[in-house]
Amino acid sequence: MSDHDLPYTVGVPLLDTKAPDGPVETRWERRQFTAKLVNPANRRKHTVIVVGTGLAGGSAGATLAEQGYNVIQFCFQDSPRRAHSIAAQGGINAAKNYRNDGDSVYRLFYDTVKGGDFRGRESNIYRLSQVSLQIIDQCVAQGVPFAREYGGLLDTRSFGGVQVQRTFYARGQTGQQLLIGAYQALSRQIDAGNVEMHARTEMLDLVMVEGKARGIVARDLITGEITTYLADAVVLATGGYGNVFYLSTNAMNSNASAIWRAHRRGAFFGNPCYTQIHPTCIPRSGDHQSKLTLMSESLRNDGRIWVPKAVGDERPPEQIPEDERDYYLERIYPAFGNLVPRDIASRAAKNVCDEGRGVGPGKQGVYLDFADAIKRMGEDKVREKYGNLFDMYARITDEDPYRQPMRIFPAVHYTMGGLWVDYDLQTTIPGLFAIGEANFSDHGANRLGASALMQGLADGYFVLPSTISDYLARGPFPAVDPNSEAVTSVETEVTSRIEKLLSIQGERTVDSFHKELGEIMWEHCGMARNETGLRKALDLIAALRDEFWRNVKVPGTGVELNQSLERANRVADFIELGYLMCLDALNRKESCGGHFREESQTPDGEAARDDDHFSYVSAWEWTGENEKPVLHEEALEFEYVHPSQRSYA
Ligand SMILES: Cc1cc2nc3c(=O)[nH]c(=O)nc-3n(C[C@H](O)[C@H](O)[C@H](O)COP(=O)(O)OP(=O)(O)OC[C@H]3O[C@@H](n4cnc5c(N)ncnc54)[C@H](O)[C@@H]3O)c2cc1C
Repeated sequence: MSDHDLPYTVGVPLLDTKAPDGPVETRWERRQFTAKLVNPANRRKHTVIVVGTGLAGGSAGATLAEQGYNVIQFCFQDSPRRAHSIAAQGGINAAKNYRNDGDSVYRLFYDTVKGGDFRGRESNIYRLSQVSLQIIDQCVAQGVPFAREYGGLLDTRSFGGVQVQRTFYARGQTGQQLLIGAYQALSRQIDAGNVEMHARTEMLDLVMVEGKARGIVARDLITGEITTYLADAVVLATGGYGNVFYLSTNAMNSNASAIWRAHRRGAFFGNPCYTQIHPTCIPRSGDHQSKLTLMSESLRNDGRIWVPKAVGDERPPEQIPEDERDYYLERIYPAFGNLVPRDIASRAAKNVCDEGRGVGPGKQGVYLDFADAIKRMGEDKVREKYGNLFDMYARITDEDPYRQPMRIFPAVHYTMGGLWVDYDLQTTIPGLFAIGEANFSDHGANRLGASALMQGLADGYFVLPSTISDYLARGPFPAVDPNSEAVTSVETEVTSRIEKLLSIQGERTVDSFHKELGEIMWEHCGMARNETGLRKALDLIAALRDEFWRNVKVPGTGVELNQSLERANRVADFIELGYLMCLDALNRKESCGGHFREESQTPDGEAARDDDHFSYVSAWEWTGENEKPVLHEEALEFEYVHPSQRSYA
């Protein structure tokens, strides 16, 4: 296949011009020092839009307002504290070394570079590890009720891919407790009049004036009213796009529209094909499902994962004797055992199921067994540590995990890809910043457990509030005329799109398109990919997009609460993003993280990374409808943690 047959073109390489060089330990401090400041009296002259109120957006909005900026903030839920972050269960990492078990900033940095399969930036990851220390102090000061040991000290536990206990937690509700902390801080600023909060309001497009981000167009989800909001800078904290697969552990409403609209306006998209498939989810029970449920990775601290040794063993688990069980993670990876990183655990589960040794309906499951833990610690202790997770499992499956092993299987959970940002978290559009799961930044090809909350809060409480001042200090920001063509044309585009969606009145529901997209993505762009499958997926998605705009049925009107319309808008964007994900996967002819490229494997079937050809971040540029996207490569350099074959054995 020659290059001109490719469905994309390769553009000039991309450089992160904000990343400092020199010793990694002092890069962040030096960047902060060289960044321009806005003096306190001038901050009230600036307005910043923050879209999103999860851990990233909530912490950013509260902090910017505390600093003295005017903030206009949005979320589509009925309250900022219902953002998807509330679902996070297991914990948040920090290199505090309270256990004195050998942890350090450098070790967290090392684990994260390695865990990401050497596809993340060293500068960003080191900064994340440094800032992790401040996050715990900040949250404790807010009163976040982290679990404590008997003596009153903060407790920690282990997550995958590491050999220390650095994960702080609040039972199985860490996200909820952290979000309440951020929400309290935000509420204080709303009350003080520094944050103008718009709940149930969805950003539908970005307003750009003279090449800079200067506002958004948003729809009131209750009345349907379309309004433009203007500011000096825009921050997107809109979460991940795992729902492109239809079935995922994400909240049903999580979507990609904000970042996709920004991409279409010129923000490059980083590593779109990097999706995290989490190993411990409740398996699907049939075709009727629209949601999958995560069982926290923290369960792998004490639960043991196994399948029968024999193919086709139909016996119930309690009748399978110990020597006929295969604790395959403990066998293959004795040093990390059940706590290998997610990509490794997911692929191993897929492999044993592909061999015909899966358990449960459809043989698409493996056991997560607490019998040994209950024997060792007693049922009460297990209940104390994991009670709410066990209850949730029992309610969903009608099985009692205290008496029989849970069944788990990998499912889409998190997206490492997102808007490309530089070291300052600024996208390729001046004045447009992206934080939290919405950006591509710190996790390379695989995120370690408990690192998303860490990144979201690092971005929101500490990094963005420093770096955005450099942008704002470099103004001026002349007032934007709301009647100018630059503003009204975006409003017109948004309104016409809504009218178009309502006028098609075809025969297929929005959900049927979404489900079909999800099946294409899971089949061809999931845990295993190959060139033939990806090319097929591109054709299927192009046809699906075409049919969507001819045959979708959206009932109701645009001037009322209309959830079909909301979903139609989002699914239209998911279809375009799904296409880009397949393009990115097609280009990346190596296996890395949990992304197994079938053409790139070792003779014994293990994933083979290709550092000679793919040690870069893929940053995709939108060039217009029916035009080939352009791929820009940002080369990755490793001065400290040198790429090696990952070993967890
Ligand atoms: C079940 C589950 C458990 C998890 N557990 C953990 C864990 O234990 N530890 C860990 O580190 N990570 C965990 N994660 C991952 C982590 O929860 C997320 O990555 C993180 O919470 C994302 O935070 P965020 O602030 O970036 O986005 P979100 O919390 O998703 O917030 C997005 C915000 O953007 C708003 N928004 C989006 N689009 C628009 C729009 N167009 N207009 C207006 N508003 C918009 C939403 O209303 C919302 O307020 C888990 C994930 C899942 C699914």
